[in-house]
Amino acid sequence: MGIQEVLEVEEQFPELFDHENDGEEVFDWELFNDCNYDAFSEVYDRQDHADVDVLREAVRNRDLDLMLQILEKPYLMIKKTRVWAERDIVKAATEEFSETSTFLEKAIEICGPYVWKRYDILVMPPSFPFGGMENPCLTFVTPTIIAGDKSLASVIAHEITHSWTGNLVTNRNFEHFWLNEGFTVFVEFKILGAMYGKEYRDFQSLLGLGELRDCMNVQLKETPELQKLVVDLTDLSPDDAYSTVPYIKGSTFLRYLEDLFGGPAIFDPFLQFYLNKYKYKSILTDDFKQTVFEYFHDTKYSDILSKIDWDKWLHGTGMPPIIPDFDTSLVDVAQKHVELWKSSDIQEIEKSPLLKSSLSSLQVKEMLTKLLEVKFSVDKLNALAKAYKLSETKNSEIRFLFLRLCIRARNVAAIDDIIAFANSNFRMKFVRPVYKELSQWPEMRERAIENFHRVKDQMMKTCAVQVANDMGISM
Ligand SMILES: [Zn+2]
Repeated sequence: MGIQEVLEVEEQFPELFDHENDGEEVFDWELFNDCNYDAFSEVYDRQDHADVDVLREAVRNRDLDLMLQILEKPYLMIKKTRVWAERDIVKAATEEFSETSTFLEKAIEICGPYVWKRYDILVMPPSFPFGGMENPCLTFVTPTIIAGDKSLASVIAHEITHSWTGNLVTNRNFEHFWLNEGFTVFVEFKILGAMYGKEYRDFQSLLGLGELRDCMNVQLKETPELQKLVVDLTDLSPDDAYSTVPYIKGSTFLRYLEDLFGGPAIFDPFLQFYLNKYKYKSILTDDFKQTVFEYFHDTKYSDILSKIDWDKWLHGTGMPPIIPDFDTSLVDVAQKHVELWKSSDIQEIEKSPLLKSSLSSLQVKEMLTKLLEVKFSVDKLNALAKAYKLSETKNSEIRFLFLRLCIRARNVAAIDDIIAFANSNFRMKFVRPVYKELSQWPEMRERAIENFHRVKDQMMKTCAVQVANDMGISM
């Protein structure tokens, strides 16, 4: 190990170095005790605490090679944050989440002080049924967001934001769930906008509105009550009410308010005032509403306040009453590709100059989502796969959408890939639609059921129950 490497180690593990007390034991045992999750739970689980003693000895002797051997086992450090993962994916995960410190810095600029001291990420096993789960100090994430190109890392921006909206200020009950999720999506998109520009922020908002429209037309068609931002859950469980409404209708409302009051320069300080006022408290929508009136009490805001139709936004059904003036440039490009595949035959498509321009992962995702409504022949689907390299993608969202197109086109040649994907992770967002649609393909229904019974014990119970329900079978 050369001097440069020693310096790098010191930079990464400053807690292990204390030059004022050279010769003394310098290991930070408080830090060590904090780390009772992965590496160190592995250490503590051993009766003889052998690794602890070896590590203590290595620190005392300044034996950096040995220290690293022990410390690098389960995690690597990214500035203020650490990624915890199984050994074979820890490097890939660290690279994938390398923007975490920047997400955190931007979030602090928008929301105010970060109170949880550490922000670490734990990559869960593939059976974890959710995308991410915000626990103070330690976000849990699915490994399916490791795409190799950071294209799905926005999940981290979302979970980081919950450090304020969800963990610091939280909804008192699930009728006011939008106070957690609507605020979180709103800030998540602001973070992404601060990093990649307004067009990108607005593109995310437009994709969200597309999902919301689909949700209103399909999932919530028969339940207008659940189309409201503030719902009545007197006879309903929050699980049954769960939808994209609190996320997207909520974030759209906040974006509307931000624009109405004059943009981030005015609205960000309000947001910090609100978060500071209710920190460590559980609140209701009325608390938020009162704070808007309290903060914007100056008469110069009277006209603006009188324009807000609170009742329509909070208690109205259907899409948001007002759609902000979003920049559509990125979504328009994706839409052009959708039109091409919808209206042309393979020969025409292959000659189109459109195929020479490349799309971002998010644009490909948007295009495939729209194409789910189109009936594809297997030949056309193969041409689509070739044009956008869909068979090689490591982006799980894109792979998921492409395999659903394969199911809808009854592409028998893709069935092994589809089953392999369904067995590669048990994230509900992916496996539920895949099993549901496979079970509606008469020739493949039995295979789907047989596969489900073979792997269901590896799923978390909640996922297995939902999949069985979706397929109309018993566990
Ligand atoms: Zn969330």
